[in-house]
Amino acid sequence: METKYLIVDNVVNNNDSYTQAVDFLNNSEIVAFPTETVYGLGAVATDEVAVQKIFAAKGRPSDNPLIVHISSKEQAQDYVVHISEIAQKCMDAFWPGPLTLILETKPNVFAASVTAGLTTVGLRMPDHPVALRLLQEINKPLAAPSANKSGKPSPTRAEHVAEDMTNIISCILDGGATGVGLESTVLDVTVNPPVILRPGGVTKEMLEEIIGTVIQPTEKEQESPGTPKAPGMKYTHYAPEAPVLLIEPKLESVQQAVEQLQATGQRVALLAAESFANSKANYFFTYGKDGDVEAMSSALYDALRACDKTDATIILATTTARLGVGVAIMNRLEKAAGGQWYKK
Ligand code: AMP
Ligand code: MG
Repeated sequence: METKYLIVDNVVNNNDSYTQAVDFLNNSEIVAFPTETVYGLGAVATDEVAVQKIFAAKGRPSDNPLIVHISSKEQAQDYVVHISEIAQKCMDAFWPGPLTLILETKPNVFAASVTAGLTTVGLRMPDHPVALRLLQEINKPLAAPSANKSGKPSPTRAEHVAEDMTNIISCILDGGATGVGLESTVLDVTVNPPVILRPGGVTKEMLEEIIGTVIQPTEKEQESPGTPKAPGMKYTHYAPEAPVLLIEPKLESVQQAVEQLQATGQRVALLAAESFANSKANYFFTYGKDGDVEAMSSALYDALRACDKTDATIILATTTARLGVGVAIMNRLEKAAGGQWYKK
């Protein structure tokens, strides 16, 4: 299959690109498109044939349900049994935006594999002009997981999608780099108090300001059988080819780690803030300005993917405090590293 690569920026008249994308979707094909979080791999969420193609393209386990994207808050009513006061407040405060709400789905409205056999569905209204226009033009809900091969870092640029999906999907809409850079916060509002199943750009603190107490289980608590979970969180995620080791962002200890790893014959790629540029790693990819967690979240996947283009044998990734967006960043870093920290 040849993949059509269409640039949709605001300068050129791109009506024709949207027409082509909508045609592909209506013919049970897959179209990758940008959202404010990461690029998504879209298929019509009511079309089982199309949805199956997402699982095949990603190599995604069939027990991992997909997030459904809609273009307005009102549309949620068509797909879910009940919108509680808490759910409504979340939509009013954070939609469009990087918050996925887990709600009880009406039976038989979505293709069966979208929900992976669950009675709930993850719904979100993305905050990106290309995603919203595509949703409005097709006027159907789109199932869209991140547009990477399962296990790999999520794509924050159309070129990343092309790396993983060329000749595998029908079309890529290139709308430039995404903003947030990490996937949406997944919030289960079928339980009270609501539980964060996956941390993201909408933080616990932001949610609590609007709806009161929210549970954010620690990694340890997530392992306990009683904690609500996202089926996908048990799988390897965000991993580049070389092993990743986490390390605290202290200049001296990072320099020592680089030297020590190099002394054992390793070629080291370092992921860190700008002030680490002079440490003598073989490769350096920056998270941006020191202490800027927004810049770090937006740069993280690009940096992880950049390591794959080098001959580095090990990746040292500096960490951040688990505060605000830092919780989501650390969740992704821990998964990319398989929980491994650098040890002297
Ligand atoms: P991705 O599509 O790669 O952004 O991942 C979506 C995440 O949301 C995965 O961790 C899924 O397991 C989770 N998810 C999607 N739908 C549901 C649902 N109905 N209940 C719980 N988790 C869900
Ligand atoms: Mg994903």
